[in-house]
Amino acid sequence: MAVRLEPHHPPRKPVVLRNARILDVETGQLGPERSIVARDGRIAEISESTRSVEGATEIDLRGLTVLPGLIDAHAHVTQASGDFNEILSWSPDYHAARTARVLHEMLLRGFTTVRDMGGADNGLAQAIDERLLTAPRLKAGGPIFAPTGGHALTEVVDGEVEIRRALRARFRDGADHIKMTLSGGVISKMRLEALAFSDAEVSAAVDEARLAHRYIAAHVYTAEAVSRALRLGVRTIEHGNLLDGECIDLFLSKGAFYVPTLATYWAILSGATGHGLDPAKKAAVEDIFERGLESLAKASAAGVRIGYGTDLHGAGLEFQLEEFRLRARVQEPLEILRSATLVGAEIIGEGGRAGVIAEGCYADLIAVEGDPLADIGVLADGRALRFVLSDGDPVQLP
Ligand SMILES: [Zn+2]
Repeated sequence: MAVRLEPHHPPRKPVVLRNARILDVETGQLGPERSIVARDGRIAEISESTRSVEGATEIDLRGLTVLPGLIDAHAHVTQASGDFNEILSWSPDYHAARTARVLHEMLLRGFTTVRDMGGADNGLAQAIDERLLTAPRLKAGGPIFAPTGGHALTEVVDGEVEIRRALRARFRDGADHIKMTLSGGVISKMRLEALAFSDAEVSAAVDEARLAHRYIAAHVYTAEAVSRALRLGVRTIEHGNLLDGECIDLFLSKGAFYVPTLATYWAILSGATGHGLDPAKKAAVEDIFERGLESLAKASAAGVRIGYGTDLHGAGLEFQLEEFRLRARVQEPLEILRSATLVGAEIIGEGGRAGVIAEGCYADLIAVEGDPLADIGVLADGRALRFVLSDGDPVQLP
């Protein structure tokens, strides 16, 4: 008879946070000083009292602003290099080690939850759940799906039967969501405006996801591609830089989510990602960035539910917080903060558990010096970050 091994769960000490002033990301109000008790990965108590908890680690957060842990709803944690051919040359174990480093660095920036949008499989999420890695909570879907001739480093599937077969296998293996490329990309062999997959293929995928109580996320750019995806039942729109009024109406009527990823174009333009761009490509990336800002402004004004996404890889990963500053060109700081907390939690199906600080929620929070509502640099610079609590454990900051 096989011996069933318990997963490795190092024992957690309770944590008491003193003098914690919580910024309510719903209302924008900064609360009075409170004591927060975290136990077994959850927030057990928030109170005025200062009673001590046996065996607890005590931490004083006086003078800091306490916020829910940040959520990046579009990350690629397995892309430690911007050179995809280099990644393909890595052994699986080496690749896993590089991925662990990427995840740890995200946590050090204050991201306590990350939705991987292509690459990470559920084994990584399992390893994090079992506390084998010091890493953000992870929602993973495995490789991206594309049709023959489609965009990106992907799993190629063609036809409704292949799509259903592939999705069934993926959901069996624990995928949280499936990302499909429904158009070309900015740096892609497939033209940006070209549509990928037939309506019937997309509908088959949406149907399989519905049966599994999961959802489809779509990589799309043009208004035509966004509207088609939303009409066919896709739940989250990734990138979506070229929205028109019809797209906005569909977001609202379908209750779908919009996840812009401005940081990735910014990283490309800044030269940080090492993509050697010819002048024509550079102009195209500049244009898609500017139109992304315009689309974000329109969607935000209309009340579309918007998640915080970054879509970075390689050297660009260090700009994960820059999205705050970029969005502040067209949005109020509180709106951006809601995207990176409350809305991010809804996107990953953890509304009420993640992205908020309340009794019973995940013990995921950060503390920063300064007021992020008055100065978005408090979040965007990363230098103001003083404390991270992840799954109930204080994280050692550099
Ligand atoms: Zn992506």
